[in-house]
Amino acid sequence: MTMRTNYCGRLSVDDIGKTVTVCGWVSKRREHGEFLAFVDLRDRTGIIQCVVDHAHDIRSEYVLAVTGVVRERPPETVNDELPTGSIEIGEATVEVLSKAEPPPFQISGRVEVDETIRIRHRYLDLRTGRMQRNLRSRALINSAIRRSMDAQEFVEVETPMLIASTPEGARDFVVPSRLSPGNFYALPQSPQLFKQLCMVGGIDRYYQIARCMRDEDLRADRQFEFTQLDMEMSFVDGDEVRAVVSEAVSEAAESITGQRPGVIPEISWHEAMNRYGSDKPDVRFGLELVELTDVFSDTEFNAFKASCIKGIKVPQGADIGRNQLDQLTDKAKSWGAKGLVWLKVGESGEVNSPVAKFMSEQEISDLLAAMKAEQGDICYIVADDWRRAVHVLGLLRLELGKPPVNEGGFHFLWVVDFPLFEDVDSEGNPVPAHHPFTMPHEEDLGLLQDTANPNDLLQVRSQAYDLVLNGWELGSGSVRIHRRDIQQQIFDLLGIGEEESQKKFGFLMDAFRYGAPPHAGFAFGIDRLVALLVGEENIREVIAFPKSQSGSDPLTEAPTPIDQTQLDELGLRVLPPAT
Ligand code: ASP
Repeated sequence: MTMRTNYCGRLSVDDIGKTVTVCGWVSKRREHGEFLAFVDLRDRTGIIQCVVDHAHDIRSEYVLAVTGVVRERPPETVNDELPTGSIEIGEATVEVLSKAEPPPFQISGRVEVDETIRIRHRYLDLRTGRMQRNLRSRALINSAIRRSMDAQEFVEVETPMLIASTPEGARDFVVPSRLSPGNFYALPQSPQLFKQLCMVGGIDRYYQIARCMRDEDLRADRQFEFTQLDMEMSFVDGDEVRAVVSEAVSEAAESITGQRPGVIPEISWHEAMNRYGSDKPDVRFGLELVELTDVFSDTEFNAFKASCIKGIKVPQGADIGRNQLDQLTDKAKSWGAKGLVWLKVGESGEVNSPVAKFMSEQEISDLLAAMKAEQGDICYIVADDWRRAVHVLGLLRLELGKPPVNEGGFHFLWVVDFPLFEDVDSEGNPVPAHHPFTMPHEEDLGLLQDTANPNDLLQVRSQAYDLVLNGWELGSGSVRIHRRDIQQQIFDLLGIGEEESQKKFGFLMDAFRYGAPPHAGFAFGIDRLVALLVGEENIREVIAFPKSQSGSDPLTEAPTPIDQTQLDELGLRVLPPAT
């Protein structure tokens, strides 16, 4: 038996005269004279107005089946804002299918509600237009990605959830083993090792819409569990992987915006850092970093005696007040700068800066020329070592110009040639920028031999690449090391000894003994992609049942204690919290 003949939002003038039954929730109820009431009924497709007799006992969020005749509304009651605003269901009879207590927050209209309350009553929040739209968009994006990967002849393979630790570098969530007390599974941070094993297994083109778990602090763009499009392919280089992923994200973007993004441009990591001060540049706006080191090569100004000087010009930004400038300076210092120099160009071309007196006329005119600064502009300058200067200016650039999430269109960007190592730790071991299976750039293999100075290793480029959208890192990937000798060399450099590497990744190294094809892959975060495409700042808005900022679930109250029997079965004893 179906209760309903039509969906609320799909009724139209074509249905006038038909007797229909619609089912849904009471969005609004308004009295109409003594005996009649307007009831706005809502389902997943929209809202229809029903004119109901004796509606006194009908309240908001009651679940109703309404049967009546579709008719044109009297002209004075037409509502142009509603797609069904020119019709209504008249002569309606109502069956109450379920009563409802007053909801803890208003469901129609976009009212700000405390997030914990929304998540605690997520089933109510899911009724809002915003969440309905977001989850439907998410489903469209998932199916667009699957369509694209299937068309590109990828095979969807499910990899296990209960595994040994993976090498993504975050903290694992662990699951105690009942049959082997004292031993633990890890939940996958990614299917990385399994997808590489799939390549050894001749799958050739693997993909999975994979749930991944990482025990890291939560942020607007990060949850403990998230969903990735994970893929890997054999006998290809990075170009081919990027082409496949570009195709999948283009299809995903088109499913929401109706438009296919053009060819996704590529920029090297070094150029991204130099021009935008970020390895995930938001290229929706300018304010690029300008090189000034040469301008001040003979400077007398102590603050400018540094190996790198760079600046940002804000056109027509000179009317900024002293207070705001002081705040920007404080921020720059909190990001690691020693200070922030600013210089304004006045209405008649005169220069105004507290440190202008330390610069020669030549330096000032070279500076203005390099920055193409004109009347009304302001220049911000940072002097430091290269890494810190670009880092601080990169953050300043975002502070000065970042547009809201839903403005400026969608700018995908590939960042390629990442360094193999991002830093050297306190023990002198280089820290991998990606995971330790990333292939170094072929031209830089020689540099790897030169371990005399670990800092030289920071120059080694890798065959790793990231996909960036509007300043968010969507994902990363790389060409993998498929040769045991190079892999062992990298493990050695990272300070991962034979024993540790055997224990952690022995099964992969063993697999490589039996004929491993050259392979490469990628993974991008679907939560982030969906959030950006629907214009949400926070990925929680595109996840049906997210955790709150503190990592707990106000709805189910997870994480919760487990009872003594379960603990005993697992051979676990819980210590009292440290005081
Ligand atoms: N496994 C990596 C990650 O999840 C992506 C990749 O290298 O394919 O970040």
